[in-house]
Amino acid sequence: MSDCLFCKIIDGDIPADIVYQDDKILVFKDIDPKAEVHLLMIPKQHIESLAQLNESHHDLIAYMMLKLPDLAQQYGLSEGFRTIINTGKGGGQEVFHLHIHLLGGKNLPGF
Ligand code: AMP
Ligand code: ZN
Repeated sequence: MSDCLFCKIIDGDIPADIVYQDDKILVFKDIDPKAEVHLLMIPKQHIESLAQLNESHHDLIAYMMLKLPDLAQQYGLSEGFRTIINTGKGGGQEVFHLHIHLLGGKNLPGF
């Protein structure tokens, strides 16, 4: 059985506040939000991090990127939003299943 927290969320073994999903991706609310809106977008396929991507992930990554503005719009972030991908221990990554943070709204901290 996978030891990956986000795979467990995908499998429904750990609850999450899911806001969107389709056959390729899952989007849910971050459990410890750093701004009014703080979502995490993950691929349903387990990929450890951005550093593990290769050509075979080309379409999936394009798909994820193109979904982000849609989600931001849906969450009322018409003024703009921030996306973050932490990669590896040195990049502050804590959960080793690729995820894109989508942040915006009130209380967005300075970068
Ligand atoms: P990172 O530091 O980029 O790996 O981010 C991991 C993120 O996952 C953090 O912002 C955590 O708050 C979030 N997180 C950890 N566990 C959960 C969970 N069970 N449900 C939702 N978000 C989580
Ligand atoms: Zn995983």
